[in-house]
Amino acid sequence: MIFWGFERAARKLRSAGPGWALGALLCLVLASAARGHEIVLRVGRDNAERGRLVVAGVGQARAVCAPLYPGDDEFLGKWMHDQPQIGLVREDDFFGRVCRVLPGSLIGLRRVSAGAGLGFAEPSTFRPILTRDGEIYWFIVDERGGFDITLLATADRAGEHAATLQFVDLAGLQSESAPVTVCFRTTAGPDVVVYVCPMRCEGEKTYAAAGRCPVCGMGLADSRAHMDHEPKHGGTFFMAPDGRHHLEGTLERGEFRVFFYDEFTRPVSARGFGARAEIWRVGSDVIRPVGLWVAPGDAFQIVAAPSEIGFPLRVKLFVDFHDGAGEQVFDFEFEGPALPAATNQGSPDTKARRH
Ligand SMILES: [Zn+2]
Ligand SMILES: [Zn+2]
Repeated sequence: MIFWGFERAARKLRSAGPGWALGALLCLVLASAARGHEIVLRVGRDNAERGRLVVAGVGQARAVCAPLYPGDDEFLGKWMHDQPQIGLVREDDFFGRVCRVLPGSLIGLRRVSAGAGLGFAEPSTFRPILTRDGEIYWFIVDERGGFDITLLATADRAGEHAATLQFVDLAGLQSESAPVTVCFRTTAGPDVVVYVCPMRCEGEKTYAAAGRCPVCGMGLADSRAHMDHEPKHGGTFFMAPDGRHHLEGTLERGEFRVFFYDEFTRPVSARGFGARAEIWRVGSDVIRPVGLWVAPGDAFQIVAAPSEIGFPLRVKLFVDFHDGAGEQVFDFEFEGPALPAATNQGSPDTKARRH
């Protein structure tokens, strides 16, 4: 739960000196109390001559994303915050907190920027507000100088969304606040696919659409993929740089085999890829270039390692996944001739066939 209590803010304001008028504090609450998620933006005024709107809790707001839940009815196919609100904490607030608009202020919330697919709406009318950068939503102030509005955050695509907002005073009594960024993350619905870097370069950060990891450049993968990196044939297992394939190399009866898998580690036909290798004994500079063949049944590609090469055997495998990225390189080393795996049932005939 994210909550920056008013009491702490008030203490801070009091200790900040006489220039702080408690009545100038404006508490804006973006909250989802029902689910225990709350983001509170506090707006105050600094000590300067003219005064400047100040937003507190910015760092925390950016560090943690509020959840957006799959919506229904008019929000079918969208995500929305659960009972969110941006509202003034009034003087007669249940907790006895004091918050008033500075007399004469005309406070508004300006959209500086917002991620594609993120929107805001009034929950009573569902009227879209803050639809464009630069647009300001003006708070209607009552006779006591207070206001009470709520604000829905919605998203039309899965993933993480951020919006940067800024408080402004149309009356010009206070200069605008620094921009404050708030973050929302959609929670997975039953049919929601989100994408992650297979290398988890940014932790569990997800993307709504496939693309490239901004850190390592790898193709983003379905977040449900890459859960299984265990070799299936007792060999050496690799993830391909495209993030969409895996392969496993084994040495069995003097034959080097390459098994191919998809991003979910499901076996795929070995026919779809081009493969060649360079084979040598460690310490020797005599390198044998060889081509691999598709084995009957298309379950793997294979090449016989010439027995005179000896061990330890080094295999540099070049695979073209036909994804436009050219050949990718995978290195294997085998200490000795492995025995056939005991659980090799289901494997096709070991004899390779040139095609
Ligand atoms: Zn990455
Ligand atoms: Zn993987």
